[in-house]
Amino acid sequence: MSDVDLPEDHPRYESLLTRHRIEDGVEKGLTSQQGLIAQGRGETFDYLLGEETIPSADDAARAAAAQLLLADHPVLSVNGNVAALVPEETVTLANAVGADIEVNLFHRTDERMAAIADHLREHGASEVKGLTGDGEIPGLSHDRATVDADGIGAADVVVVPLEDGDRAEALAAAGKTEIVIDLNPLSRSAQTAAIPIVDNIIRAVPNITAHATDLADADQATLTGIIDDFDPDAARAAAERAIRDGSLAAPDE
Ligand code: ATP
Repeated sequence: MSDVDLPEDHPRYESLLTRHRIEDGVEKGLTSQQGLIAQGRGETFDYLLGEETIPSADDAARAAAAQLLLADHPVLSVNGNVAALVPEETVTLANAVGADIEVNLFHRTDERMAAIADHLREHGASEVKGLTGDGEIPGLSHDRATVDADGIGAADVVVVPLEDGDRAEALAAAGKTEIVIDLNPLSRSAQTAAIPIVDNIIRAVPNITAHATDLADADQATLTGIIDDFDPDAARAAAERAIRDGSLAAPDE
């Protein structure tokens, strides 16, 4: 991760890198201005979590890997923040679990859809869905409902990082098993998820891939057991506790 000129020994290196990537995403037309606000919100929670993957988030990432490996048609949904922060990592995860990648924007414009698809291809994606837009998630108004019929429309399991709460609810109501990556355990998206991963997407996506690689040869019973043992309410509660009661190490800045 040395795509910018930041001292890697800076105590807030990861946070600075994230800001730089989001800023770059806005400049490249991938990320919306609202994406900057979402990033700021996320950073606050991450700071309170100690900017690390807490054990319940690691359990959730393992359950997510198991769920993706068991899925018939998994899809990873990509918005402007995801494209800016983890393009290559998203492609690596998709390859590890055999998932489709679909661009899915709250503020949908043809330019931004195309820019994100190109950016993902530059980072190794062979096929990017979302541009056809011939499907619809029931219960949402026109633009926000648009998906590809053979992508998210046909998916049984969807990974929706940093998703808007309404859409997360509508996807769950449409019968999709939802894996949500969101630093706010109280957001409607995290509340709706079958598997909420309360972690920074920068850490969560590579972590799901690592678990998927580890579980690649696991049999169906093992994968089902991992999912059954995962308790989403307990994971949300553990994250909320960590945020509310966490004893932050004194910053060395
Ligand atoms: P909801 O409607 O689900 O309650 P929201 O629509 O208000 O939430 P947004 O303001 O759209 O949520 O923000 C997106 C969410 O993404 C926020 O909950 C924020 O914590 C989270 N987020 C932002 N950056 C990251 C990141 N890098 N990794 C994980 N989550 C993030």
